[in-house]
Amino acid sequence: MAKLELQELTGITVEDLMIESEKVAHVQLNNPLEHALLVLVKSGYSVIPVLDHTYRLQGMISKTAILNEVLGMERFEMEKLSEIKVSETMLLDVPVLKKSDSFLTALKAVVNHAFLCVLDEEGYFEGILTRRAILKKMNRYLHEQVHYHPTGDKTNV
Ligand code: AMP
Repeated sequence: MAKLELQELTGITVEDLMIESEKVAHVQLNNPLEHALLVLVKSGYSVIPVLDHTYRLQGMISKTAILNEVLGMERFEMEKLSEIKVSETMLLDVPVLKKSDSFLTALKAVVNHAFLCVLDEEGYFEGILTRRAILKKMNRYLHEQVHYHPTGDKTNV
């Protein structure tokens, strides 16, 4: 594999690194929490996107928020899981990216978020960008710099 140059790294866009929507576990607005918890547990993720029936992003739902809803004074009131809808419990304030956003914009965004949803201009869900994908590219770039310039030669940095 050819060495990754700084210009190539900064030329990378969100589109180059994102996970396409078909591969992203998600739930729908009117799903009961029971279904959301099942998807979260089976997928192994702690937070996933919430979409409406037209595939527009509406929020995020987390295991913690669901468990909070069923946490009663004396026990977990699990029967509530079938009564409450995802739309009543989801997180609404969700930061997003566009496919055309640059590597540097994405890098800044993933400092505070494990992943971000990628939307088109009309709010339709196109996929997600994870912190892992950004760190993998940064890791490769920095290790190659150290390998090619072990003495600290900064001509290519
Ligand atoms: P990872 O980089 O794989 O640790 O993913 C970071 C976070 O992004 C996970 O905890 C999930 O919240 C979300 N995520 C990653 N991949 C998926 C996926 N295929 N479907 C839904 N959410 C995902």
